[in-house]
Amino acid sequence: MTLTTYQCRPESKGSIHAKSNDPNAAPAIRPNYLADPIDQQVLVDGMKIGRSIINSRVLDKYRAYEMNPGDKVQSDAEWLQFARENGQTTYHVIGTCKMGPDPMAVVDDRLRVHGIAGLRVVDASIMPTVPSGNTNAAVIMIAEKGADMIKAATADDLLVAA
Ligand SMILES: Cc1cc2nc3c(=O)[nH]c(=O)nc-3n(C[C@H](O)[C@H](O)[C@H](O)COP(=O)(O)OP(=O)(O)OC[C@H]3O[C@@H](n4cnc5c(N)ncnc54)[C@H](O)[C@@H]3O)c2cc1C
Repeated sequence: MTLTTYQCRPESKGSIHAKSNDPNAAPAIRPNYLADPIDQQVLVDGMKIGRSIINSRVLDKYRAYEMNPGDKVQSDAEWLQFARENGQTTYHVIGTCKMGPDPMAVVDDRLRVHGIAGLRVVDASIMPTVPSGNTNAAVIMIAEKGADMIKAATADDLLVAA
């Protein structure tokens, strides 16, 4: 049997930057996984809880031995190294055009790009933080709401948002 540990709302932030002015060139994507100490501790604690669940007496008849990571991983540092070497993503990337009023925000609360008239962003990139659930349903909600906002657009929407 396999048990995975997954942090729903990570603190670590990555980045994506254009590498050239060619729109077809691949950007530089830096996921920056496990950079924040909170993420490190949550994952380490989660994996340790997972091991204790699998090792519980009620599961004795279903378990022979721990194949991976096995006895060699005991300390927090060893668990973290194991995560770094074996961890995978759940592909819930968001936030490259986050909504908000601060200098790093790209869109306002009507999904209008700050400083550019007549342009909206309507997708996962506007989420300021990762939602706890999977992102697909949240994107559909953003799209439904965004469509309503576009249909209800007034002349104000064509003004350059601050
Ligand atoms: C492997 C994988 C597994 C996932 N599993 C799940 C899951 O089980 N459950 C879940 O809830 N979420 C899952 N997700 C996350 C979810 O798919 C995304 O959060 C969601 O699709 C994001 O929606 P979006 O509209 O922001 O972007 P996208 O779905 O990526 O849509 C972007 C669209 O823009 C189009 N496009 C790109 N460039 C151009 C261009 N220049 N001109 C015109 N069109 C363009 C693309 O073709 C694409 O159709 C998964 C993601 C991946 C990658």
